[in-house]
Amino acid sequence: MEIFLIIIILALIACLFLSTWKMRDYNKVENNYSIMTKNYSTITILQEIMVILGSKIPSSSKLERINELLIASFDISYSTIVEKHDGESIIKTSNLPAEQALELSSLDQEPLFAESIANNIPKYVTSARALSYVSAQERNIRSSLLFPLYVEDELKGFWILEDIRTESFDSAEQTQLSIIKDNITLVLQNNDYAINLENKTHELENANKKLEEMANRDGLTGAFNKAYMHQKLDEVFNGNRRQAALAIMDIDYFKSYNDQNGHMEGDNLLRSLAKLLSDSLRENDMLFRFGGEEFVILFSDTTSENVTMVAERIRQKVADYVFPYEEKQPNGNLTISVGVAFCPTDSLDKQQLLTIADERLYKAKNGGRNRVVVD
Ligand code: GH3
Ligand code: MG
Ligand code: MG
Repeated sequence: MEIFLIIIILALIACLFLSTWKMRDYNKVENNYSIMTKNYSTITILQEIMVILGSKIPSSSKLERINELLIASFDISYSTIVEKHDGESIIKTSNLPAEQALELSSLDQEPLFAESIANNIPKYVTSARALSYVSAQERNIRSSLLFPLYVEDELKGFWILEDIRTESFDSAEQTQLSIIKDNITLVLQNNDYAINLENKTHELENANKKLEEMANRDGLTGAFNKAYMHQKLDEVFNGNRRQAALAIMDIDYFKSYNDQNGHMEGDNLLRSLAKLLSDSLRENDMLFRFGGEEFVILFSDTTSENVTMVAERIRQKVADYVFPYEEKQPNGNLTISVGVAFCPTDSLDKQQLLTIADERLYKAKNGGRNRVVVD
């Protein structure tokens, strides 16, 4: 009987031993399974992050999407990404109300995190009581994980994850989040590249515009040059509406002006005259330096009365203007003569129209100068 009892007790002990052994195995499997699931979900999250990174949305929206994804996937209470730019803090994304998120932007000044940020080391804090930095206490935060965001040696910002549970973010999660942190840094870095690229493109565009402008202008007077005049006239003559009016203007007795006052003063006079002419133009009229002391105006308005009136007004303005040394001119005044031609009335051909305007200019010269000839 006693032996029988001993055998039963031994059998019970063996069963107990075997079942705990099995339990240990089972726990191991469950543990491995949970690690595998976590790794699997990190891969899925990373894949989704890659899709967001590769999309063509602005980088600020990318960070917002990534943050939403992380908050949902890791079941985090709050996640805030702060960018540091020229000493300023910018909240890139947060699921906190704006005011509270703003409080977190100065987290790098908090003694709790300052060292971690300065040395580019993640900082994990957890406490049974609420944590004591800025608004963490009010929000009952019990676990915080801060990642400094560095591009090479430069601090670009930080990412602060907060949870109301104690001992949130276990070491496996910390590793996963650290991988994701690298992708967040990438967005900030790409944002920098994009801004730089945009600035450089803008600078280049402006430089190109200036070069184009310079290529079309005459160096001495700033008026458009002869090549550009031909380009503009071609546009008119090759267009559907072949309508144009142009005036050729020539300074009276300019040779005398140069002889009396020197070539330099002659140049100064050309500059002053060009300014006076261009100031007298209406919005869509254009001034070109046609030759040495000859200018052409291409009129946007082609009604002969209006063009004649404007040409006459300009001639009068030049005659009235007091130029330096003009009293030494043969007629005691610095004046211009003007020949005007109209398309289609006078000709449909660009070259012929220029010739007609030139012929009228010489008519004006022969007629005594300081006058406008339109027919
Ligand atoms: P007219 O009333 O018949 O037009 O007499 P003009 O003396 O103006 O005519 P002409 O064609 O004989 O002389 C034009 C002068 O313009 C000759 C040249 O020295 C001067 N000239 C041409 N281009 C320039 C320039 O770029 N700078 C200066 N200072 N003079 C120029
Ligand atoms: Mg001339
Ligand atoms: Mg002249």
